[in-house]
Amino acid sequence: MARKVLVLADIRDNSFRNVSFEAIAAGKQVADGGEVAAVLVGENVSGLSSELFYYGADRVLTVENSSLKDYTPDAYSQALLQVIDEESPDAVIMGHTAIGKDLAPRIAMKKQAGLVSDVTALEVVGEEVVFTRPIYAGKAFEKKVVSDGIILATIRPNNITALDRDESLSGEVKTVSVDIKDLRTIIKDIVRKSSGGVDLSEAKVVVAGGRGVKSEEGFNKLYEFADIFGAAVGASRGACDAEYCDYSLQIGQTGKVVTPDLYFAFGISGAIQHVAGMSNSKCIVAVNKDPEATIFSIADYGIVGDLAEVLPLLLEEFKKEVV
Ligand code: FAD
Repeated sequence: MARKVLVLADIRDNSFRNVSFEAIAAGKQVADGGEVAAVLVGENVSGLSSELFYYGADRVLTVENSSLKDYTPDAYSQALLQVIDEESPDAVIMGHTAIGKDLAPRIAMKKQAGLVSDVTALEVVGEEVVFTRPIYAGKAFEKKVVSDGIILATIRPNNITALDRDESLSGEVKTVSVDIKDLRTIIKDIVRKSSGGVDLSEAKVVVAGGRGVKSEEGFNKLYEFADIFGAAVGASRGACDAEYCDYSLQIGQTGKVVTPDLYFAFGISGAIQHVAGMSNSKCIVAVNKDPEATIFSIADYGIVGDLAEVLPLLLEEFKKEVV
């Protein structure tokens, strides 16, 4: 059954987050031979549209307005709702990011649509789109179908593979003008906690530290290690609570969910709440001085040892091996 699908592009600092391209791939599946239109929302963003075609969008809808420069729930939901009214899609897909998590329920409520959030896989079975999503902190997966009205879904970054980038692709760009009014929030300034660095939720390699890292200086060693791989640094809540690092690094049930190809767990016990945020990593390497630590039960490779001894050795060896 061919469907018309809208995919919201997720932009940060004027460039796309990878999940935008993954959402287009998901949109293609949902469209089932129908059309995928990527929605590009912001201020002066139309120049970015070709990249969306390269990753498979059939059309790009640009929605530009000075009120859409930075994300606010009011402005973005007004804009997207107007696009939905104009386009009458069968499905709307976006990333399960800070924006998607905030925006999708608002759209679902306004359109009385069924929302499936945090999707990790999907398949089209006959007339239905069957979404898979984790439940019980990642201990089980459920399959969901939206049986009536618009299908709304947010997809977890790093789980659905984007299509290969193809620069020969292009398509129609349509400008949608929207009327944004009665804003309750106006962003005056954005002060970033940290600049640069690799985005934790999209990182291919994550170097995470726990209470076993022992100090803020210990975390500096993790940053040094992460630099070798171009990796992002994450943490357990134990490490955040102990003030070795910022809470923005927390991975787990109440922190970020990561699904990298390679996850290093340094001095992390492997509590269920932590595992909920990283168990879908493709390869897990754990270093812990306690051979009974729970983290070893999910690790692909385990090193039993004191971080004070093991980390300098790993640093030395990987510096030699990784260019
Ligand atoms: P610990 O459990 O103290 O483990 C430290 C580990 O380091 C131990 O295994 C120890 O053997 C090892 N170690 C110590 N010294 C060394 C050394 N020198 N060399 C090598 N290894 C060493 N936690 C999260 O991480 N994320 C969450 O999102 C989260 N959400 C929560 C939500 C709720 C509602 C609750 C109740 C808890 C939540 N927690 C979360 C907390 C979670 O239960 C654990 O307390 C936390 O994950 C423990 O962090 P940790 O493994 O760093 O510390």
